[in-house]
Amino acid sequence: MTRAISILGATGSIGASTLDLIRREREKWRVVALTANCQAGELARLAREFGAEVAVVGDEACLPALRDALAGSGIAAAGGAGALVEAASRPADLVLAAIVGTAGLAPTMAAIEQGTTVALANKEALVSAGDVMTAAVARCGTTLLPVDSEHNAIFQCLAGNSLDHVRSITLTASGGPFRDWTYEQLVAATPAQAVRHPNWDMGAKISVDSATMFNKGLELIEAHHLFPVGHDKLKIVVHPQSVVHSMVEYRDGSTLAQLGPSDMRVPIANVLAWPARMDTPCAPLDLAALGELTFRAPDEQRFPATRLAREAVEAGGSAPAVLNAANEIAVAAFLAGHIPFTRIAAYVADVLAAAALPAPANLAEVIAVDGEARAVARAMMELA
Ligand code: NAD
Ligand code: MG
Repeated sequence: MTRAISILGATGSIGASTLDLIRREREKWRVVALTANCQAGELARLAREFGAEVAVVGDEACLPALRDALAGSGIAAAGGAGALVEAASRPADLVLAAIVGTAGLAPTMAAIEQGTTVALANKEALVSAGDVMTAAVARCGTTLLPVDSEHNAIFQCLAGNSLDHVRSITLTASGGPFRDWTYEQLVAATPAQAVRHPNWDMGAKISVDSATMFNKGLELIEAHHLFPVGHDKLKIVVHPQSVVHSMVEYRDGSTLAQLGPSDMRVPIANVLAWPARMDTPCAPLDLAALGELTFRAPDEQRFPATRLAREAVEAGGSAPAVLNAANEIAVAAFLAGHIPFTRIAAYVADVLAAAALPAPANLAEVIAVDGEARAVARAMMELA
């Protein structure tokens, strides 16, 4: 029996890892929709290879190029935000949400509203929509499977256990490329240095998030929604080797951890095959070769992002959406060379203090909060 899958963000790092796994068991899958922002040539190549029903570019200006590249293939081409939502709404067994940023929010919500099982990589969508998304998941009876390696680890450690018995959940953090840098070095950090992650090969935005530790901050908020044990039970520990992907501690003193190579194909395989298991080409763990695994507390002086995220989750309401939007704007400004690395967290803190927005109650209000927070962030940067 084949399963039908749509991949939102098919040309990205997560999209490529997913298609790599599907390519290895081609006969088990039928590809419905593949999407990208632009990258018309690459998207068309993938759509032809996997025999997709439809290929969609988020940026409508790229649609003519996509149409040209798909000419004669019989594959439908579409473009624009509405087309992404339509693609995500098509009947499928699984939608992999791997667009980066809140650009993925509306299509992810559309898949959830259809009741289609969603494999969620796009953490910004959940951070931003928060309760609005989890309420839709509950209302529509949707299964949400976490792709993010930490959350997939927690998901695996929770299997067969009740959240009532959980004493704490610990997210591990590699600490990113600047883990051991002094504050003075951080001030001068360049985009090229920030996107060079020691353990993981990822898209530019999440790589910068790893360097600032906003990735862990966003993941703390993501965990709060996926595993509602109370935010006071969520902890973060720095683990430079990225072998232990997270842990769950139970009331009896047992701590369960999930270990694996730092290869996103492991958690992606878990959600593709769930509740079964599948083979991956990933190198097996060789603990003797690794020698040791180390752990240390995060340094919130040099990396304030996790503290800001904790404050946002405690404040609730619009704060997580504001934090996420401000971070997206600040990361883009840093990557464009407009602001120094250390200003990213400073801008997020300033926008959080300045933007007192009402708690969003539905998708339209989440998008409005996101837009307003972006406007505040942009205005602050122009004034500086
Ligand atoms: P990426 O930049 O490599 O790919 C992003 C994908 O989204 C691309 O297909 C791109 O074309 C598409 N996209 C970008 N902007 C868009 C827009 N405005 N409209 C429509 N499509 C758009 O990113 P990635 O590293 O694959 O990460 C994707 C998501 O998965 C992010 O939310 C990230 O935080 C999360 N994630 C990634 C990793 C990883 O190892 N890469 C691990 C955990 C979680
Ligand atoms: Mg992660």
